[in-house]
Amino acid sequence: MQSLHLETLLSTDQIRAKVQELATQIRADYGDSEILLLGVLKGSFHFLSDLSRLLYDISVVDFVQVSSYGAEKSSSGVVQIRKDLDTNIEGKDVLIVEDIVDTGTTLTHLRELLGTRKPRSLKVVALLSKPEARKHKTQVEYVGFEIPNEFVVGYGLDYGERFRNLPYIAILHED
Ligand code: 5GP
Repeated sequence: MQSLHLETLLSTDQIRAKVQELATQIRADYGDSEILLLGVLKGSFHFLSDLSRLLYDISVVDFVQVSSYGAEKSSSGVVQIRKDLDTNIEGKDVLIVEDIVDTGTTLTHLRELLGTRKPRSLKVVALLSKPEARKHKTQVEYVGFEIPNEFVVGYGLDYGERFRNLPYIAILHED
């Protein structure tokens, strides 16, 4: 039988400090303008929750869901919108909130799609980035941590829905 074990990569304290740092940077860049924080479901929900509370006075939230890996550990390369946003983003400052940028496929498609809806600005904040795994060049304005090309879980990231609510981020090993 396959056994899984977790190796801590980023602790709860490290994540908390980084989210605070990102919020400070975002606040400095946007000033008093209202930001539409667009969470990419489901992986970003812990990150969005923490970030949005630090930006409570200048942000609103909405969600989008795109096709995910399911229980697979690699991307199929096909991106589909499963749940569109509720907001008309024309003329708005939109900040896409992503858990992790891996191959860059999801973000490339999402940026392209949202760009056609004429937001005033469109930027991305990703808690994690795996630069070694990138297949599509995509712009990410704010990156929390650059991590090695390993499969990680926790703080919103799952493996077939498991480990999503782990309060820290760990590398998932299969023995
Ligand atoms: P990309 O399109 O950049 O290859 O992948 C983006 C999506 O793949 C992320 O939003 C996330 O849902 C999933 N993903 C990529 N790398 C990992 C990982 O290491 N762990 C988990 N749980 N999901 C990942």
